[in-house]
Amino acid sequence: MKLELVIATTNNNKTKEYSQMSDDILFSNASDYKISLKDVLENGKDYHENAYLKARYLKDKIDRIVIADDSGLEIEALPNILGIHTARYLENLSYKERSNKILELLKDKDNRTAYFKCTICLILKDNTTYYFDGVCKGHISYSYEGNNGFGYDPIFICDGYDKTMASLDDDTKNMISHRGLAFKKLKQFLIANGYLKDVI
Ligand code: IMP
Repeated sequence: MKLELVIATTNNNKTKEYSQMSDDILFSNASDYKISLKDVLENGKDYHENAYLKARYLKDKIDRIVIADDSGLEIEALPNILGIHTARYLENLSYKERSNKILELLKDKDNRTAYFKCTICLILKDNTTYYFDGVCKGHISYSYEGNNGFGYDPIFICDGYDKTMASLDDDTKNMISHRGLAFKKLKQFLIANGYLKDVI
């Protein structure tokens, strides 16, 4: 039987990425359990606290192993608008409109350095809690390019690549992304602690 991890998210893009990254884990999410997360106040001071708030809320409702992913985009030249508030920035606009707004704000800036960050909070059945972080460094592109991924992928170029994250195939994004790197650490933990078999 596969290990089930329930993700404290209603973002199907996140669930899809996790499912692509591991055949030996069955990922489900809050929506599969008909649980709404709209009452979770993401008012933590950092990614760890927000990931915990989401994971804790779900864990209190179901007796399952849960994870929550809190992520965001940090842009050096625009220090105050995204970060842990990324999901809430101009949230009534489409991601294309939000991305174009960022491109507009960076129009005259030479410094386009940015990174994506992801913290996964894992809460086991006995309530012990662990955190796994991933960072993907890069910069903001000059134009909106690509149809894969989600969110700000069309305006982010990872170091070592010459096209936006939304122009990469799924496997490549998952190998280099903040989420992919955090998940790799989570998977190593699950193997080391006997929750998953090490398949080499
Ligand atoms: P939260 O983790 O649900 O609070 O939201 C994270 C927000 O950061 C998303 O809504 C996106 O705007 C952005 N984000 C996080 N991960 C990614 C990614 O892999 N690609 C593009 N945007 C992302």
